Amino acid sequence: MTKIPYHKVQNSRIHGRGVFANKPIRKGTRIIEYTGPIVSRKEADDIGAQYENGHSHTMLFQISKNRVINGTEGGDARYINHSCDPNCEAIQDGDKIFIEAIKSIPKGQELVYDYHLQVPGKITEKVKKEYACFCGSPKCRGTQIAPEILEKQAKKDEKKKQKEERKKLEQAKKEQKKLLSGKAGSGKKDKKKKDKSAKKKDKKDKSGKSKSKPESKSADQSGKEKKHKKSADSKKKKGKK
Ligand SMILES: [Zn+2]
Repeated sequence: MTKIPYHKVQNSRIHGRGVFANKPIRKGTRIIEYTGPIVSRKEADDIGAQYENGHSHTMLFQISKNRVINGTEGGDARYINHSCDPNCEAIQDGDKIFIEAIKSIPKGQELVYDYHLQVPGKITEKVKKEYACFCGSPKCRGTQIAPEILEKQAKKDEKKKQKEERKKLEQAKKEQKKLLSGKAGSGKKDKKKKDKSAKKKDKKDKSGKSKSKPESKSADQSGKEKKHKKSADSKKKKGKK
C-alpha cells in the first residue's frame, strides 16, 4: 500500500505555483518540511539580489540571526504561498522548519501560512508594495511583511508626526507670547511714552520685516535645546534603573 502524499503543486490564484491539499488534512498534521541548503545571511542577501520585487525573499527562510534555509534549492514547500488568514504555520524544530496544519483542511484547498516576513530598514509604502500580498482574505494586511514590523514602523511614523506637530505648536506659542508681551509692555506705559513707543514701533515695523527671519531661527534653536535636555533626563532615569 503506497501512502498518498498530503500535498501537490499546482497553479495558484494567489501567486504563481501553490501547494494544495491532496487529501483531507487534520489540524496539527506536520505536512511537509521546508528543505534547502543552509546559507549565511550574506549569501541569502546575494541570492535575494538575483530576483526582482522581493519574491526571492519568499523562498528564503531565516532560522537564526545569521542562518537561512535557501528554499530556491529546496523542495515543494517553497511553493507554499503566504496568506494573512492562513490554514498552516511554520514550526521550527532545531534547524528544521515544518509546515503544520492549524485548521482542518479539505482536499483541494491551497495550503498557506503567514510568512511574517522580516524586512530590514524603513518600511515605506514602496517596500510594502514590493512584498504585496494577494491572499484576498478579508483579514489581508496588504503585505507579507510581519505585522510587528509594520506596527513598529507605524509607531515611529506617529512619533515623528507628533514631534513635528509639537515643534510647530511650540513655535506658534512662542510667537504668540512675543506678540502678547509686546502689547502688554506698551500698555503699562503712560500716554506720553506710549506715543513715543508708537512712533518707534512705526519705524520698527518698516525695518521689522527683515528682522523676523533671524527671530524665528532663534526660536528653533531654543526648541532644540529643550529637546536635548529631555533626552538627557531620560538617560539619567534609565541609569538609575
Ligand atoms: Zn494578505
